[in-house]
Amino acid sequence: MSRSVFVTGGNRGIGLAIARTMAAQGDKVAVTYRSGEPPAGVLGVRCDITDPDQVDAAFQQIEAEHGPVEVLVANAGVTRDTLLMRMSEDDFADVLNTNLTASYRVAKRATRGMLRARRGRMIFVSSAVAFLGEAGQSNYAASKAGLIGFARSLARELGSRGITSNVVAPGLTATDMAAQLPEDRMKELLAKIPLGTTARPEDIAAAVRFLASEEASYITGAVLPVDGGVGMGH
Ligand code: NDP
Repeated sequence: MSRSVFVTGGNRGIGLAIARTMAAQGDKVAVTYRSGEPPAGVLGVRCDITDPDQVDAAFQQIEAEHGPVEVLVANAGVTRDTLLMRMSEDDFADVLNTNLTASYRVAKRATRGMLRARRGRMIFVSSAVAFLGEAGQSNYAASKAGLIGFARSLARELGSRGITSNVVAPGLTATDMAAQLPEDRMKELLAKIPLGTTARPEDIAAAVRFLASEEASYITGAVLPVDGGVGMGH
């Protein structure tokens, strides 16, 4: 297996675990990074996914070094948590721009090569919050729920061309994002998880690897929860 794989936000957290898992099975993996150094062992492309020109340049670099993207993992995401009454237009728009609009942007650009090849895999990293909602996360939940409708529409549009489009919905996962939560909030969230612990980034990566694999070639439009049971299958 030596496919051209592109993971947005693959420089740390869940994205890095996905990148490592795919690289370990022999894929050629590219990841975005915005500052500092990219992780070793993968191709780092400097790219802020909210900037269309940077996204196009990233794809050109990947195409030149690894060939057209065959597996796209739209993983990069941000939170800007606050209650609705305090949520500014920017708090809402910035989260939607990164989590949803930029996923549209990378998917559209990746589709070009996938249509030509008549095969491809798109995997969108959503969240259990998309189904459950969360006080203080209306912007984030809206963006993550939007990804599900987006991915399912692509599943219908692109299925006849051999392209699958699926969603992974992680629950609370031990990364920098979860580390931002205050300790008492963390305790409350853990109490709601049947398996009683946070996910490891590798747990999410395993689900992504499966959806990108040959074994998953008849799965499209699916949402795969990896959440310790918090959403009971949703
Ligand atoms: P982290 O905060 O650890 O990492 C976020 C990643 O997204 C970083 O690689 C970051 O890059 C990248 N990113 C953010 N904005 C941009 C941008 N504009 N352009 C390029 N890259 C960007 O998050 P996680 O690893 O925890 O989360 C990964 C995904 O999983 C996200 O979509 C998140 O919403 C989702 N998720 C996470 C959960 C959790 O509990 N951790 C639960 C459910 C879903 P940089 O290093 O440059 O900032």
